[in-house]
Order: sequence, then C-alpha cells, then structure tokens
Amino acid sequence: MPFAKKIKLHRTLSFRLTLWYGIVFSLTSCLAFLFFYVLITTSLRQRLDSRLSDKISEFEAIYNLQGLEDVKSAALIESQAAGEKKIFFRLLYASGVAFSSSNMTYWQEIGINRNAVGQLVEGRSRVYETLTIPGRPDRVRIAYGIIGKGVVAQLGYSMENDTAFIAIFKKIFLITMSALILTAVLVGWFMARRALSGVEAVTRTARQISESDLSRRVPITAHHEEIDRLAVTFNQMLDRIERLVVGIREMGDNIAHDLKSPVARIRGLAEISISGASSAGDDLTLAGSTIEECDRLLDMINTMLMISKSDAGAGDVSMEPVNMADVVRGAIALFAPLAEDKGLSLSCDIPDRLMVRGDLKMLQRAVTNVVDNAIKYTPAPGNIDIHGFHDKDVEMINVSIKDSGIGIDAEDLPKIFNRFFRCDQSRAAGGFGLGLSLARAIAHVHGGEIHVESSLGVGSVFTFSLPRTQSR
Ligand code: ADP
Repeated sequence: MPFAKKIKLHRTLSFRLTLWYGIVFSLTSCLAFLFFYVLITTSLRQRLDSRLSDKISEFEAIYNLQGLEDVKSAALIESQAAGEKKIFFRLLYASGVAFSSSNMTYWQEIGINRNAVGQLVEGRSRVYETLTIPGRPDRVRIAYGIIGKGVVAQLGYSMENDTAFIAIFKKIFLITMSALILTAVLVGWFMARRALSGVEAVTRTARQISESDLSRRVPITAHHEEIDRLAVTFNQMLDRIERLVVGIREMGDNIAHDLKSPVARIRGLAEISISGASSAGDDLTLAGSTIEECDRLLDMINTMLMISKSDAGAGDVSMEPVNMADVVRGAIALFAPLAEDKGLSLSCDIPDRLMVRGDLKMLQRAVTNVVDNAIKYTPAPGNIDIHGFHDKDVEMINVSIKDSGIGIDAEDLPKIFNRFFRCDQSRAAGGFGLGLSLARAIAHVHGGEIHVESSLGVGSVFTFSLPRTQSR
C-alpha cells in the first residue's frame, strides 16, 4: 500500500507514546534504585560508625581502669585478631603526634587529620572521615575519639562490605533495569497499539471511503469510549455527506430533466422562426412564447438561488418586524380573483397583528407559494381557509392554509419539501417542485418551521410556525 509505506515509525503516535512510557518508567525505576542505594549505604555506614565508636569507648574504659599500656596491648590484640589489613589503630597526643600504633605497613598512606583532632579538643566526642587509597578497591572509614586525658585514638576500618555491596547492587541494577526497560517498551507498545487500534479503524474506513465507497461506516466496538465517540461523530458526518451527495446527484438529475423540456421548446420555436414557414404575425407569437419559456426558466433559476441563499443561513436576510396578518391579507388580495375564476371560496380568519421578525419579501413569497398550491391543487367547487393565531404557550405565530383539494399520498408526504419533488397526480399542473422547498427554507431561516397534514382526496393543511416578536 503506497499510503502505508510513507509512514515514518518515529513520527507515529504509537512510537511516541511507547517512548514516553519507556522514559517515564525507566526514570521512576532509577529513582527507586537510587533511593534503595542511599538507604542501604547509609545504614551500612551507620553500623560501621557505631562499631568504631564502641571500640573507642572500650579503649577509653580500659584506659581509665588499667592505664595506657593495657590500651596499647588490647588494641594490638584487636588488630591482629581482625586482620592487620582490615583494621588499624594509632594513639596520639592532643597535639596530633602519634606515639603508638598497630602494624601500619599496609596503611602507610593514611596520615593524621589534625583538623579532626582539633575538633575533639574543642569538645566533639567523635569525628569520622572516609578515605580512598589510590589503587585499592576498598575505601577506609576512620574514627577519632579521646580515650583519656590528652590521649586520642585513631581507628580505621576497611569498608570491604561496602565494596561488595556496591558490586552486587551494580549487577542487580543493570540486569533489572534492562529487563524493566524491555518490559516497559513491550507493554508500552502493546498498550499504545491497543489504544490506537480504534483510530486505525477510523483511518482505514476513511481511506476506503476516499477510494469511493461512501456507504461504509466505522464499526463501534464498545471497548474505548473516546474512540467510539470519534467513530459515532465520524459516522454521523458520513451520513450527512452521503445525504448531501445523494441530494446533489438527485438535484443535478432533476435540473437536467426540468431544463430539457423548456430548452427543447425554445429550440423548436427558434427552428420554426428560421425555417421561414411562419408569417410576420406568427413570428410575434413565437417570440412571445420564447420570452414566456425564458421567464419560466429564469423563475426556476431565481427560486433555486433563493433556496440556496436561505439554506446558507440568515447572513444576508434582513430581520425587521413584520406583521404576518398583513402578509396573509396581501396574499388573499392577490389570489382572490384567481380563486373566484376557478370557482373556489377563499376565506380568512386572522387577528390584526401577528408580529414576527424577518424579511417581508421572503415571508410574502413563502405564504404565496403555499396559497398558490392550495388553489392549484383544489378542484372546483372547493374551499381554502386561512387561519392565523398566536400560540401563547410557545410564543409562536401560526398561519395555517387549509384546502379541500386532491390531498397528498401518505408515502409522498415526507418528500414534498424536497427540491424538485412533485407528486404523480399533480404532474399535469405547471410547476418545478421548488415552491415548498423555498417555503421551508424561508421558515428555517426565520427560526421557524412548516408542517403539513394531508389525506388523499380530502385536502391538506400547511402550517407555518414562526417565533413571535414583541416589537411595534
Ligand atoms: P410545484 O411547483 O409542483 O407546486 P411545490 O414544491 O410547491 O412544487 O410542491 C411540491 C408537490 O407537493 C406538488 O407538485 C404537489 O404534488 C404537492 N402539493 C403541494 N401543495 C399541495 C396541496 N395543497 N395539495 C395537494 N398537493 C400539494
């Protein structure tokens, strides 16, 4: 798949999520290790210090009870018993000069810290220091303490336990961290893939759709709430796109179909004119018919433009207070002669003021379209009753146009507001099937609606509901 080849791994969300997971996991593990390391080495140090301190206290007791010579021999025995490479001692004057020690051959590099001795003289009971001897793995912990008047003991202990612990700790750290990082990466990758699998399903569907199958939908898995919400939104968007595409296709077909006959008629009229078969009087009639056909076409095109404008929203629509009662009375004045000619009675029951906010011309157009239909689809003898009222419960102005005409089949009823839709039984009457779409688009742009109730052979009622305004 060419699409898949273009994906760079390091730029994928899965990779980044895994990387972040790995980094956070490793850092947390390192911190945990560091915490344990500090805890254990501190406790080892404290144990060693208390051992050294105890030993100095022991020497102090011997000094007080038995004298300096016994301290010297006790210290010698101690260093020989523990091992001369493990422990050493020195006895110093308060000036920092040594006057006795264990075998110091192994500890030659270790001097006397006069600063530490100074601190003892100033009153501290113990002073500790840690020294590293170049070339030796084990460090040395040294303690200073006063054991008698003017006598200081310096005691050193090899920290081989520390060294062994650090070596083991290093090994455990390396092995555990490698295993943890590997696990973190695997788990992170698995989790990222699982979390993003829904997104991939959406992507796959989008790709299939872009390759022309508009009827496909993203499956809803009910595993991930967020992904499902994305899928539902995506599917809703597809439903709308599909409806629009089907609508555009149907409209294209209808326009082509409805343009064909008038254009063919215009062409026929023109052919007769140029064939020379007509007289001068006929030519005038032909030109008149051509103008009539052109007007019908222009009317259709203008109506379509008006529907599009209304559908697009209220941007260009002027919103002024309009009295719907006047609009209805205007329509009645316009259509009364036509209704009378056809043998229909046209009645009206409407209060003086039914104020809405909107575009007067558009509202007039919407009402006349519906009244025109009522007259067109009602055979004589018949009635058309217009009733207007203010519905106080919902603060809406309702205008209903009721006729006793041919009615609309229940199957056709949901479609009559579609552009270019015409019921079969009304094909004989002139029209493009745009009047009701325009009426509905105008109602919508005014924040209202138009409803229809109808039964075949009995009649229809079309009702406009528009939000009432208080003004004027
Ligand atoms: P048209 O130009 O065909 O009148 P409309 O959009 O105004 O287009 O109406 C669409 C279709 O709805 C009409 O063709 C007709 O079949 C049906 N219709 C509209 N009004 C009525 C009515 N009052 N009685 C019966 N049928 C109607």
